[in-house]
Parts: sequence; C-alpha cells; structure tokens
Amino acid sequence: MKPLKNIAILGSTGSIGRNGLEVIEELPELNLFGISGHSSLDNLLNQVHEHHPSIVVCSNPEAARQYDFPQTAGVEFQTGASALVDLAQHPEVDTVLAAIVGRAGLESTWSAIEAGKTVALANKETLVLAGSQVMQMARQSGARILPVDSEHSAIFQAMQAGQANEVRRVLLTASGGPFRDFNSNQLKTVTVEQALSHPTWKMGKKITVDSATMMNKALEIIEARWLFGLEPNQIEVIIHPQSIVHSLVEFNDSSVMAQMSPPDMKLPIQYALTYPERMPGPAPRLDFRKAMALELEPADLDRFPALQLGFDVAQSGGTAGAVLNAANESAVNAFLENKISFCNIVTACRDVLNQHEFETNPSLEKLISMDLWARKEISEWIA
Ligand code: NAD
Ligand code: MG
Repeated sequence: MKPLKNIAILGSTGSIGRNGLEVIEELPELNLFGISGHSSLDNLLNQVHEHHPSIVVCSNPEAARQYDFPQTAGVEFQTGASALVDLAQHPEVDTVLAAIVGRAGLESTWSAIEAGKTVALANKETLVLAGSQVMQMARQSGARILPVDSEHSAIFQAMQAGQANEVRRVLLTASGGPFRDFNSNQLKTVTVEQALSHPTWKMGKKITVDSATMMNKALEIIEARWLFGLEPNQIEVIIHPQSIVHSLVEFNDSSVMAQMSPPDMKLPIQYALTYPERMPGPAPRLDFRKAMALELEPADLDRFPALQLGFDVAQSGGTAGAVLNAANESAVNAFLENKISFCNIVTACRDVLNQHEFETNPSLEKLISMDLWARKEISEWIA
C-alpha cells in the first residue's frame, strides 16, 4: 500500500474548501491532516466532526476568543495567523490546498511554498500580487505549484500534450458572467444582487463579483503569465458561455488542445491533489447522450475594460499586480456595501493603478506596503 498523502486545507469553510473536503472524503489515497477557517466557526466545528482532521486552525483570534472549542480527542485546536503558517509548514503535511480568498492568503501560501510543499493553488490573488517573487521562491525551495483555478488546470493538463517551448498561445475561456449580453447602459445599473448570481458557477462572493466585472479573467491572465512563464501576448481570452471547455492551448504546429468537463471545481481540485495520477472521484461526468452546443466567441474589451487592465498589468509586472489586486479587493468590498456602482469598480482600479509609483523589482515587503497604499487610495477615491 502507498502511504497516504496528508492534506491541509487553508480556508476549508469556503466554497473551494468545502469542495476539497468532498474530494478528500471520496479518495482513500488522501488524508485530511488540517483545516482552517476565519469566521464561520460553527461550520468549522461541523467539519471537525464530519471529517476528523488532526489540526484545526481558527485564523481569526477575535472570533476564536468568543468561542468555546470543545475538547475533542485527537484534535488540536490553534488560533491566529501564526498557527495558519505553522499548519502550512507542518512537517507531516504533503500538500496544501491554498483556498483562502484574497490577499489574506498571501502569508500562508508563501509559507507553504517556502517550506517546499506541494501547493494546490486556488488563491490566485497571491500570484497576482507577487507572481515573480512566488515563482522564484518555488524554484529555490523546490515547491510544486499546481493550479486549482479551472482554466489554469485545463491549460496545465493540455500542456502535457507537448513541450513548454512548443506552446504558441493559451486561450483562457470566460463564461462572460451574468452580464455577457448587457450593453454599457445596462451595466451602469447593475445591483449587488444581480452581480452575485452567476450563471454557471457557485462560488464565494468576491470571485462572483470579479466574474461579473470580468476582473476575475484579468486576474487569471496575470496568474497564467506567472504560473506558466508566458509572455502576455501569448495569452488570449475567449467567451464560452457553457463553461465546459475550461481553456485551450495552441501549439506551434497549430494544433489546439482543450480540456472539458461540467463546471464543477471538484475535478481541478482533485487533479491538483492527486497529480501526477488520475483516479475515479466525485466530479460529475459530461453526458454525451444529450445534444450539447459549445460556443466560443471573441471577448469584448470595450464593454469589459477590466480585461485590458489584466493584459496591461501582466505586461508591466513589478508593483502593478499588488496595486491592482488590492484596489480591486477594496473596490469590490465597497460595491458589496453599496458605496460605489458596479462600473466604478474597474474605473477606480484603473485610476489607482495609473497614480501609483511604479517599481520594476520590488521586494515582498514593498508589495505589501503597496497593497496598503492602494486600499487607502480606493477609500479616498470613493470619498
Ligand atoms: P470563500 O469566500 O467561499 O471562502 C474563503 C475562505 O477564506 C473561507 O474559508 C474563509 O474563512 C477564509 N478567509 C477569509 N478571510 C480570511 C482571512 N482574513 N484570513 C484567513 N482566512 C480567511 O472563497 P472561495 O470562492 O472558496 O475562493 C477561495 C479562493 O479560490 C479565491 O482566491 C478564489 O479566487 C479562488 N477560486 C475560487 C473558485 C470557486 O469556484 N469558488 C474558483 C477558482 C478560484
Ligand atoms: Mg477560474
């Protein structure tokens, strides 16, 4: 018998985290070693009883103080940001599923990479913020970063049909979100409720709003640039409303490889957890007994200006990713609190990006300070 693979899920109470638990539950080769949650502690405790991890981290010490953790045999409860880092670097952990949302995932994801772990990366914001630094750290430590984002998992899988230097370009698919057919005037009146109802994917709030503005695709352009070492002009975005083709890779002989499956995150999560092997799991199958149409159409950069931001930031590198990521997180929160309009999310991001003092080779500390700066700028922009 092969030894079990020990998995730690950082952000187990979220959408990706819960899908990850389902995958681990179904696969006897995977063992749940640790989990973490930030605020919904009832859910975290339910997960302890249902899935029996050895270590449980509540990363929010405030929330933890107001909560009585029961003495459970064989379970160690820990609190705070440093406990999250300890779990990410724990000697018994083989693979870390980085599923915290936003910049909050940076330190723990970075720590896992520093410790040379295999990282199943859902937390794309870490690569947007510090892609160059993260990839360099992975090369130093020997950590393997495996994409969980469905598009990047598709590209990673399709790339195995050839050599890296034979790739001509990658085509990221985008469902187009709930406003794919809205004109500029309709986009101006979008409400929070409308933005939170995605046609094909069920996800956390932040990424759902990002999908509606197409900022999610902008972040994915930047993610692909760093993860696969591509030039920005090798990345394209195409609209595919059915979310079945998860992305495509074109090789230098003009052959195009696509990866297809129903829109369900369990498959890309599982592939990152079992790589290089494939095994039967809980992901749904495509039903080819029913007729199905797959549409692919060019993306409209005029109606969705976020896309151009993605290409621009992928091109500039340096401090641009940290500024865009922080500005967007902050603007999305403001939109969810009804402080700015839907269209102003991207406008505010562009303004803050244009104002920032660009640096080509920033340190990680510099990037973190740029993140704080951009959040402050967004508050002022709104005021
Ligand atoms: P979510 O909001 O559902 O879950 C977020 C998780 O992060 C929760 O467990 C929460 O407790 C934890 N968290 C929040 N703030 C934290 C903090 N300050 N410190 C520590 N932990 C904190 O988000 P999600 O939709 O699961 O997305 C998670 C990540 O995966 C994001 O980076 C997103 O872009 C990426 N992703 C998600 C999907 C999807 O289908 N949901 C698809 C592709 C990529
Ligand atoms: Mg995606």
